[in-house]
Amino acid sequence: MTASVISAESIPGTGRTARGAIELRQVSKHYGDVVAVDELDLTVQPGEFVTLLGPSGSGKTTTMMMVAGFEDHTAGTVLIDGKPVDSLPPRDRNLGVVFQNYALFPHMSALENVEFALRMRKVPREERRQRAEEALDRVGLGKMGGRKPRQLSGGQQQRVALARALVFNPAALLLDEPMAALDKRLREQMQEEIKTLQKGLGISVLFVTHDQDEAMAMSDRIVVLRDGKIVQSGPPEEVYNHPRTDWVASFLGDTNLIPCTIVERNGEEAVVDLGGLGLAKVRDRGASGENYAVSIRPEHLKFRTPASAGNGCAATLVSSTNLGATVRHRLTAGGHELQLRELSSDRGAGNRPDEELWVGWDADKAQLLVLES
Ligand code: ADP
Ligand code: MG
Repeated sequence: MTASVISAESIPGTGRTARGAIELRQVSKHYGDVVAVDELDLTVQPGEFVTLLGPSGSGKTTTMMMVAGFEDHTAGTVLIDGKPVDSLPPRDRNLGVVFQNYALFPHMSALENVEFALRMRKVPREERRQRAEEALDRVGLGKMGGRKPRQLSGGQQQRVALARALVFNPAALLLDEPMAALDKRLREQMQEEIKTLQKGLGISVLFVTHDQDEAMAMSDRIVVLRDGKIVQSGPPEEVYNHPRTDWVASFLGDTNLIPCTIVERNGEEAVVDLGGLGLAKVRDRGASGENYAVSIRPEHLKFRTPASAGNGCAATLVSSTNLGATVRHRLTAGGHELQLRELSSDRGAGNRPDEELWVGWDADKAQLLVLES
């Protein structure tokens, strides 16, 4: 693994105590007939890393722009550290901002770009230079302050933007798809560096991505957005393992969705009828709607024997594909197509098409959810 080049030293004047609460109360944004953001209630606790995750057009950037103050909202209130900021211009909101399209000034050096944030805030000249140098040091670019943006790689430019966002000691950071232009390796490295920096400074972050892996890797809490509304929010594992609807389940990764009818609900567990797959016990988080399905992640489906306890059914192998670290098996069972994923190193059964097999799953790995689509 690549060593982190961003250190978690605090910038001058930066306390290490958690800070930077952001709160949106019933915030809406309408563009003519388009409702980009619809009565959003959202809180980022001091020191918390919250990710807005949603497909393109779900209102992520509009939400960030309203918090930053670059866009007026149609209704509602934004509070930072408990104070309404609706009438404050961006520079008075004390937020560090890195947006994908919020580029560096091409005619200024990296150092001048970082200094600019301090100049805007009327920091005296001598102090400016020193703080900008320290901020560049912190993102591993101490020796490159004299370079113009075009003389830096995409990753280095994003580090300069990060230094510029942090140099004035903001209450919180707003990051809108800051790594979208970087290749996978660099993106993963930056993810770790941003996390390290954030924990070290105790700063809160509102982060935007449409990439579910990135959201899983970085967040304390994921807020899933669809059509300007929150459809689910919670810690990454919680949202991944217990999606409330089939849409959330599919957006957060591969899953097997089996339509079902409810036979019995007993608190945390339900008995459902899976049609051709018979009756099964599943996890019940109280989802309520007209139609229901059960979601079982491919990695939670296992090759078992008919004698094993718990949920299970006979299945026929359609194909097996080696993906390197894992093997993906496609199966049919009771009229349904199923996907089962296992580690290549665990590969046992499932080696030839048409093989008759038995698959099973644990009740707490099968989630009852609302079928919307
Ligand atoms: P995301 O960042 O999740 O991709 P956006 O916040 O950019 O989504 O957009 C949300 C919705 O608002 C989309 O339907 C988009 O077309 C619309 N929208 C965004 N900005 C404007 C604008 N300036 N004028 C009109 N519609 C806009
Ligand atoms: Mg966007």
